[in-house]
Order: sequence, then structure tokens, then C-alpha cells
Amino acid sequence: MNRNYNPLSRANPHVRRLHAYVPGQQPSGGDWVKLNTNENPYPPSPKVLEAIQAELAGEGTRLRLYPNPLSMPLRQALATHHGLKPDQVQAGNGCDDVLNLLMRAFAGPERPAGMMIPSYSLYSVLADIQQAKMIEVPFDRSMALDPEAIRTCGANLFFLTSPNAPTGVGFPRAEVEKAVAAFEGIFVLDETYAPFAGEDAVALLARHPNLVIVRSFSKAFSLAGMRVGYAMASAEIIELLDRVRDSYNLDRLAQVAALAALADTAYYAKTTADILAVRAQMADWYAYKGWFCYPSATNFHFVEPQTSTGETGAGVAESLYNALSARRVLVRYFPKHPLTQGFLRVTLGTENEMQRYRDAVDSWLKTH
Ligand SMILES: *Cc1c(COP(=O)(O)O)cnc(C)c1O
Repeated sequence: MNRNYNPLSRANPHVRRLHAYVPGQQPSGGDWVKLNTNENPYPPSPKVLEAIQAELAGEGTRLRLYPNPLSMPLRQALATHHGLKPDQVQAGNGCDDVLNLLMRAFAGPERPAGMMIPSYSLYSVLADIQQAKMIEVPFDRSMALDPEAIRTCGANLFFLTSPNAPTGVGFPRAEVEKAVAAFEGIFVLDETYAPFAGEDAVALLARHPNLVIVRSFSKAFSLAGMRVGYAMASAEIIELLDRVRDSYNLDRLAQVAALAALADTAYYAKTTADILAVRAQMADWYAYKGWFCYPSATNFHFVEPQTSTGETGAGVAESLYNALSARRVLVRYFPKHPLTQGFLRVTLGTENEMQRYRDAVDSWLKTH
């Protein structure tokens, strides 16, 4: 075999040009305060561990067998949870899997996708994989929704992150409905952060056949490591998504873990309330410092750091980002866009973690 064999020349041209999504750092080794990927600081419900252990009983003999291909018990539980029919729900290997299936089913060389900028950058990568053009509809600094701009953008499939990331800004249901109603293509509402917001848009499914809502177990259910997400839509849309899915897209442990999590409402009401309490504290702290921070409907803040002399901007955000990293506090910095480069996205952790973050900020302020 020729040692100089070059598989690149055999790859599809669009794959040769493709840039993979860059996830937030997952440092190994202890003692990091990890506020960079919006993971939940609390462990999942103890019922989740029990369910996983039960699934592993009998020396793990059930692992010999394929899982339920449709994740049917989970679909049924999700449907009940949201007041929908089971054929209106599809489960996926993380919300990202579901987003990929939507792109696979509804976008391609002749069918452009669209998204707001800034929002979740994975959408662009998924569009590139399908060789679909990505139409970018810009926010301005107000981060308010513009239904007319979405209506006229020309996309066949539109992604709105609601509440938005990385800004944390929530959109009133009435505003979302205006955008969905005006848009003729498939409208995907990524409600990954809805459990931290005051309202969601599930009720809109009953009157808008072009609407798909996607959710995740990674953030509010503390299960980022298990990879579970889901879509809610009309039975017709779900049926199309099932055509393009991996036949066993959720493993056995993921299915039982998600089912157990969904059932333990009391546990997650408590962890979510704790996060919202920390959110209120942190918003007060930023206000006290005079730092601009978007009102958050999520489990993170998008904040514009200021030096002690009142300077803001990309240089300031980058300087604080580096100072925090040096103290093993990880946050997320998005330097590529004018609306994000003066900001840092900071996940809400436990009170202790936020104290370490605040101490690191105050120490930076002494010299900046
Ligand atoms: C975290 C996140 C996801 C990914 O969810 P997974 O279930 O972990 O794949 C999707 N959309 C947004 C907006 C996110 O922030």
C-alpha cells in the first residue's frame, strides 16, 4: 500500500472544505470552575442512577439486546409531559442529533437554511454538511426579534434559539408566534433553555403546522453526558424525521435515564430554582459593578466586562477571559462578531463556583 495515499482527494469536495463545530473546552484534571458550556452544576436526580443500575442488572445482560428503536416509552412520557400525542414526538441522541435530522430532511443545495446572528453556531456546520446555504439574519444590539426580516429571508428551514444563546435573551411567546406565522418554511424553535424561562411555545404547535420545537436533557436535566434531546411537531413532520434517523439513535441507558429524569419533577424544580436564585444574585452583582448584562431567561449570563476606568470592548473581554483561565475559571468568549466580542458568556454554577469567579474578576480589576 502506498504510504502517501491521500484520502483527502477522495473526500466529497464540500467535506474537504468543512470546518467542524468547536465545542467548549472540557479540561481534564480537577479544580476547574467550569462555566463555559452551560452544563448544570448539580448532579442528575438519584432516580436516574437507580434506573441506569436497574438497566445494568443481571450482569448487564440487557446490553446484549438492541434498545427500543423508536425510544417509544420515552416518546410517550414526553408526549404526556407536554400534552401532545406520542406521534408528535421524536427522541434523539442529544438535541444536536435532532437538529442534524431537521437539516438532513429539510435543507440541501436547493433549499437554504436560515438563522439569527448571533445564535447557536452549530446550525451553520450542519447546513454545510447538507451543502445547504445558510442565510444569516442579523440581530442588532437590542437583540429583539424581527419577524419581518425572518419572513423575507428566503430560507426553507429557519432556526430560532429561544431563549437565545449566547445572549440569554428570551422572546415573548406572542413575538415568536408572529415570526412562526409569517414564515412559510419549516420553523425550528430551539428551546434548549426554555426550562429556565418563564414561558415556552409548546402551545403554538396546535395552530402552526410548520413549527418544530426542539429540547435537550443536557442543561436543565443535568444529563449532557447521556446525550438525549427531542423534537415536538406535527405527526407528519415527525414521520419525515424518522425516515432520516439512525435506527437505534438512543442507547438503552440514555432511554431509561431520560425517562427517570422526566418523572422526578420535584427534584428538578429544586435544582432549577437554585440556579434561578444564583441568576438573580449575579444580575445584582453586575448591576452593582455597572456592567451591562442582557436580562437572562437561561442558565447563563452574557455580560460586557468593564475595566475600573469604565473601558469596554474586545480587548477588555479578552483580557478578562485570559485572567479567568489563568485562575482555572473557564468561561466562553466569542471574538468573531462585533455584537459578541466585547462580552463573555458565563454559565451559572453553584454559589461556591460563582464566588470563585467573582474573586477572580475582582483580582483582575485591581490591575485593569
Ligand atoms: C447546548 C445546546 C444544544 C445541544 O444540546 P444537546 O442535547 O447537548 O445536543 C442545542 N441547542 C442549544 C441552543 C444549546 O445551547
